[in-house]
Amino acid sequence: MSDAELVVRSTRVITPEGTRAAAVAVAGGKITAVLPYDAQVPSGARFEDFGDDVLLPGLVDTHVHVNDPGRTHWEGFWTATRAAAAGGITTLIDMPLNSLPPTTTVDNLRTKQQVAAEKAHMDVGFWGGALPDNVKDLRPLHDAGVFGFKAFLSPSGVDEFPHLDQDQLALSLAEIAGFDGLLIVHAEDPHHLEAAPQQGGPKYADFLASRPRDAEDTAIAGLIAQAKRLNARVHVLHLSSSDALPLIAAAKAEGVRITVETCPHYLTLTAEEVPDGASEFKCCPPIRESANQDLLWQALADGTIDCVVTDHSPSTADLKTDDFATAWGGISGLQLSLAAVWTEARKRGHDLADVVRWMSSSTAELAGLAQKGAIEAGRDADFAVLAPDETFTVDPAALQHRNRVTAYAGKTLSGVVKSTWLRGERIVLDGEFTDPKGQLLTRTP
Ligand SMILES: [Zn+2]
Repeated sequence: MSDAELVVRSTRVITPEGTRAAAVAVAGGKITAVLPYDAQVPSGARFEDFGDDVLLPGLVDTHVHVNDPGRTHWEGFWTATRAAAAGGITTLIDMPLNSLPPTTTVDNLRTKQQVAAEKAHMDVGFWGGALPDNVKDLRPLHDAGVFGFKAFLSPSGVDEFPHLDQDQLALSLAEIAGFDGLLIVHAEDPHHLEAAPQQGGPKYADFLASRPRDAEDTAIAGLIAQAKRLNARVHVLHLSSSDALPLIAAAKAEGVRITVETCPHYLTLTAEEVPDGASEFKCCPPIRESANQDLLWQALADGTIDCVVTDHSPSTADLKTDDFATAWGGISGLQLSLAAVWTEARKRGHDLADVVRWMSSSTAELAGLAQKGAIEAGRDADFAVLAPDETFTVDPAALQHRNRVTAYAGKTLSGVVKSTWLRGERIVLDGEFTDPKGQLLTRTP
């Protein structure tokens, strides 16, 4: 403690051993000790007392589409990382698509890293992309530090990122398994999508029918079979269909190396409440019925679903037309993810330690970020300070992401982020930001 440069304390610190009153000592951007609440602060150390506000590890969001460079008018590193920081996130991992170039070669990764380095308000890492024609690029990307590879099993929404058919999936996964990498998958089966009624238009019920659960269930079953055959590590992105949960639970029980995420919008919004024409609610797979949502919560509670990430995937407002078939699919949730999940979690009897496990510890573990995701000695001093009982009404004008379209407009949420800290430096206080202090992250070899 004597070398501490900063001591922060709260009556409620969420640690891996439980929530308790504690003082956290920080030096060189790292947590050096978690001490009793009334530990003496060394002279010369800065001291912050958060009172009864909760001190939690900064969230690690492993599913963000930043779109920079190339579609920076949709979202960029400057705006995305400010929105994330305002929401208590301190680490994000960027998806390989919707930027131009996509992160599918080492050269493209370097371009992305250069752009991010100057604008990132928090630590930023990258997923690579697995395309039909870039199998030879996968190992070099792995060696260059991407955290894993994203693949689509159905059309991605952008031409430059084509999806894999089953043979191509087998080839890519075999290559990735060869260096024990991780494949993260948008799992909807294209044949089931094609067979579904494609009505188009403004009715949400028609859109929901066009992306049926069995498209997800079939794709996930196929992925499990491949993972098992190759003993490969796979991760199911943005699970929406609760019908796939028994398959996943059985695969996990059998030792298949599979993890699963879901998103705040599947956990807090329901198909029943989406107004017709409101394409700010459009994402793929879609937000489903409230009975489906109940089962997703149950799966989080029992560990079938491992983590919760935003899948923040914005576009310009003009692409959010009132025709669900052609409107851009993606929900902008970065700044609101913690409050949205916490608001629903507490109603369902969960505590903040559960939310931290889903949104910080498990995601850090997914990416192999041993320095993130917990308040304990040796980890980075990344914190969010949360007033869990304070409420606010979502005003799109108060959001930091570039295009202030949100499915949460007008909702009253619990949990106000008072400040966010990155490696011992406060990066947001009451909506005021410091200059960007983020670092580029690469996979730990
Ligand atoms: Zn996504």
